[in-house]
Amino acid sequence: MWQTKERSIFPSIFVLCFVLLAFVFVVIQNIATADTPKDVSYTNETISDFFENTATDIITSNINLAKQKYIQEFDTVSDYSFQKYLSDKHVLQNRKYEPADLVLIDAEHVVIKAWRPYLRQAAATAFDEMAESFYQEMGEEMYVLSAYRTYQDQARLVDDGCSNTRCAKIWASEHQLGLAVDIHVATKNWYTHFSSGYLDRMNENAHKYGFINTYRKWPKIDGKMKEIWHWRYVWVPFATELHEKDMSFGEWVKSNEE
Ligand SMILES: [Zn+2]
Repeated sequence: MWQTKERSIFPSIFVLCFVLLAFVFVVIQNIATADTPKDVSYTNETISDFFENTATDIITSNINLAKQKYIQEFDTVSDYSFQKYLSDKHVLQNRKYEPADLVLIDAEHVVIKAWRPYLRQAAATAFDEMAESFYQEMGEEMYVLSAYRTYQDQARLVDDGCSNTRCAKIWASEHQLGLAVDIHVATKNWYTHFSSGYLDRMNENAHKYGFINTYRKWPKIDGKMKEIWHWRYVWVPFATELHEKDMSFGEWVKSNEE
């Protein structure tokens, strides 16, 4: 994913170099013809025209191109990608995958109840910021009930009888990616969230921190029952795209596979 970001920068650097070279060329021409007033006035118009039209067009079209490529290149396949998509049909390439950059969730106004309170570095940083902002606005601390789960943790849940519409298969849990948390707020139980304003607040703001509610529509679309407590980090640009299109992750993947 970081490679995608780096690649998308190169066309912009190329265009900037091109614009700078063109500018230097026009300035040299201007200096060379400075002793003929007629030519100077013509050159000034050319410079102004170049920047108002040609350069702007080139930069805009390149930004659009880079954006388009970038959207198309969200990586839903590699295990380490922030956009790795998991379902019964889309499973981990390495079923015993363990993220290499897990860190402790460390926000001031979070209550940790999870057995393994870890997320991948980027997800943990974003979650800490989201939880703090949630606390400032709602005056409630988030409870983290579950975060990272190993392959064995998920296997245990499934072995204990958690059904396939409630729990992911052992090779298809977003918790194994180190990118998902199950949360609720201190003074409410899970099932009163719909009326507490908690869910509205999360739905309106979580994407700004790169989080989505993976299972937010119906089992037919997402493969699982709605899970209002389950929030998954996918990186801000992708979370924002899903938010703007009002799509669940599963819906987006299906629309891109068609
Ligand atoms: Zn979960």
